[in-house]
Amino acid sequence: MRVLVFGAHPDDMEIGMGGTIAKHVAAGDELLMVVATVPSNRETRLREAREGAEVLGAQLELLDLPPDDVGMNRRTIREFDRLLSAVDPHLVYTHWDQDSHQDHMAVSRAVIAAARRNRCSLLMYEQTIPGGVVPGGGFKAQSFVDISPFIDVKCQSILVHHSQIEQNGGDWWLDGVRGRAMYRGYQMNVRYAEAFEVVKEIEVHFGNGRRDAVRITRRREDKRQRAEPDGAVTRRVSEDTTDDWHALGRFPER
Ligand SMILES: [Zn+2]
Repeated sequence: MRVLVFGAHPDDMEIGMGGTIAKHVAAGDELLMVVATVPSNRETRLREAREGAEVLGAQLELLDLPPDDVGMNRRTIREFDRLLSAVDPHLVYTHWDQDSHQDHMAVSRAVIAAARRNRCSLLMYEQTIPGGVVPGGGFKAQSFVDISPFIDVKCQSILVHHSQIEQNGGDWWLDGVRGRAMYRGYQMNVRYAEAFEVVKEIEVHFGNGRRDAVRITRRREDKRQRAEPDGAVTRRVSEDTTDDWHALGRFPER
């Protein structure tokens, strides 16, 4: 699978989805991290961006657009178009479009525009930024990735951004990132997870649906055998399997 990840600045992708990036790489996916611009401390942050990608084992493209040029504009969308055409990804990740940072918002909108003609899934990652509170409904965690084996490499990939650590609160910042991963993990019954809001998903559930069907069929048979001698139990079992049928996309009659 080919995966493209967009971040406005060095460190954004590591913070938002470093565990998922490492997991894609470990799965053998081709993954390219794209940094749109470096707003300050240029040489240092370019070096840190390379180190962050190296820790995660990903490839890196530094677009290095002038900061004032980054926006929901033709220049930015043209650059993103070029990358999407060259890579032809199956899956694209970008910032959450309601992030409180103007560059994050602009990159997200530009990626959504650039992905208009491509047959790729598009997900938005969750940022942890100081004071990043926004009005409205808030981030909708719709898609989860178990990053339990990758939480340490995620934190290492953030720690190479030395220039950002102090100004973002040092350990406090890292605790926030780790704490959020733990919260998202708790929501899906694993130790650590990262969450995404879905813009579009293209046929991602077909493979998963077949795998789950095998497991669910076996469970249903086991329950039937146990329930056969007693009619009351049989009825209760058939109610128990309602969730299984929902998982298969086939709903029992009521
Ligand atoms: Zn940023």
